Amino acid sequence: MGYSVKAQSLADTLVKLDNSFGVTGDEGETAEALKEEMEGLYDEHFADAQGNQIYVRHGKNKDKRVLLSAHMDEIGYIVKSIDKSGFARIFPVGFHDDRMSINQVLVFRTAEGKKVQGVTGCKPAHIVTEEERGKAARIGELFVDFGTRSAEETRSLGLEIGDYGGFDRAGHFLNNTDYYTGKSIDDRGGLAVLVEVLRRLKDRDVEPSVYMAGSVQEETGMRAGNPLVNQVKPELFLAVDGTIPGDIPPLSYEECSQKLGDGVGIKFYDWDSGITCGNSVPRKLTGRMIAVAKKYNIPFQREVIMGGGTDAWNAWQAGTGCLAGGVSIPMRYMHTAVGVLKLSDLDICADYLVKYLEDYVTL
Ligand SMILES: [Zn+2]
Repeated sequence: MGYSVKAQSLADTLVKLDNSFGVTGDEGETAEALKEEMEGLYDEHFADAQGNQIYVRHGKNKDKRVLLSAHMDEIGYIVKSIDKSGFARIFPVGFHDDRMSINQVLVFRTAEGKKVQGVTGCKPAHIVTEEERGKAARIGELFVDFGTRSAEETRSLGLEIGDYGGFDRAGHFLNNTDYYTGKSIDDRGGLAVLVEVLRRLKDRDVEPSVYMAGSVQEETGMRAGNPLVNQVKPELFLAVDGTIPGDIPPLSYEECSQKLGDGVGIKFYDWDSGITCGNSVPRKLTGRMIAVAKKYNIPFQREVIMGGGTDAWNAWQAGTGCLAGGVSIPMRYMHTAVGVLKLSDLDICADYLVKYLEDYVTL
């Protein structure tokens, strides 16, 4: 299978978290799944008004706090209208490539927590004009078919304007390998790593108190870093999130240097010029991170990327300021229904973070 027996519970955690519903703005089900996985692994748990979940494992020195954060939310859709024939129109929630939304099975979560399934329809291939052929329909042109004939019938399913929807797809490992494909590996993969870190810290005492956060609202603007830092007041914030690998046919390592299976990604720099956000991780932090990886012979990759950011961006600007950086997990096809990651990368990432905490020094 390509991964160790100890990674089995990590695999189960990943599957469970990935299969939970957690579109930005409606992360409650993922928070519940996370709580079940965290059973017995923490000293304290609290949730803030926004829904960020914070689990604490006390260290020998309670005044030293390290905040590890992975976001619970996934990209999705929101119902903007229901027409008289029962079809819904949708807006995107989070950053989408319109090409990935056509002819998908979606699931919407109602105010009562009921699941309503639908498919995204568009003009059939036989009918499109020459001009339309080969062009991706925009999300605004799509409609969702619930198998109903009227607005009343659709509403009788419990669906209303404002309900969030996501991809309806059960994740699984590909062909008995440790490559896992799922709808929300970004960032349930990171969240599974954090559960695993606390699992491995269960019988070990480390110097700093470890605050592990499952954050909300990352996909609509990386908003949680600031409120998290203000609550926890850590000296170090590390986001554990996905990154784009260059190991698929259309890309090259010159464009994206990460590769599945090549070790934990250590964040040096990310920047999104469109929304002017990102982190230039300070030398002293990246230097320390590399030193720990080298000391314990943990394979690592240096990550420099344009076109994205993490919760560390917002954490950096919070309160009186804390050091903020990140570790990255290469994930193929992020922000689609068929993301692919490698379980051994999660295993190595968890190992690395445990070593970092065991060897912790204030910078
Ligand atoms: Zn993410």
